[in-house]
Amino acid sequence: MANDLTIKNLNVWYGPVYAVKGIDIRIAEGSITAIFGANGAGKSSTLKAIAGGIKYQGNIYIGENAIDNLPVHQRVRRGIVLCPEGRGIFYNMTVKENLLAGAYTNSRSNFDIAFSVFPFLKERLNQIAGTLSGGEQQMLAIARALMANPKYLLLDEPSLGLAPIIIQKIAEVIRHINETLKITVVLVEQNTSLALNLAQYGYVLENGRVALHGKSNELKNNPVIQEKYLGGA
Ligand code: ATP
Repeated sequence: MANDLTIKNLNVWYGPVYAVKGIDIRIAEGSITAIFGANGAGKSSTLKAIAGGIKYQGNIYIGENAIDNLPVHQRVRRGIVLCPEGRGIFYNMTVKENLLAGAYTNSRSNFDIAFSVFPFLKERLNQIAGTLSGGEQQMLAIARALMANPKYLLLDEPSLGLAPIIIQKIAEVIRHINETLKITVVLVEQNTSLALNLAQYGYVLENGRVALHGKSNELKNNPVIQEKYLGGA
């Protein structure tokens, strides 16, 4: 489609550490696309590069337009919004202050969207974010990202450290965001079965390279994926 996100020959170094080694990824507009792989495979670095938060070599396009020269806030304006690993919320600030922090490029009207996805936040606006449960904090982090009016929501390990029942809730939210709000989702996950159940398409990263990519159904049935990433299921 016209506004796919295309990543071409992406390379990331941290000093001497060569973390991302020439990755090509296409994120179809309207899709949920999963990126998975072991610790240190380069998943977070890839997301951070797309968001503009780290230096990289290579090219990232929205449709035909390269965005490599744009700083983070201008990418946010074009709809690229990162919900970082570890949530990145402000623990000493209220829920409301956290939400407003996400809306810095926008009018404040996005509260309605955030509340439509997470009604419980309406009752918690004055609660200090650090006193929310882990699952609620993750929901706040996603709500804050929604405040920036994303077209492309980059989710880094949203299930990390959460109980299965909460993970289920987060999964429903991700599906809703994609299907109802029509937001393209890039989902980085170590929980491979969650990622493949939600996404239409997946990329497997190993040591900074794309080891394999394909439709989720094909990946689920791939014996190597089953053995290495689905616990031999
Ligand atoms: P995880 O799931 O553990 O977060 P990941 O697949 O997201 O892993 P990255 O976080 O992208 O992987 O890390 C890729 C490589 O880059 C790793 O070897 C990591 O140690 C290294 N790395 C990441 N950030 C930095 C940094 N700020 N300084 C130095 N090395 C880094």
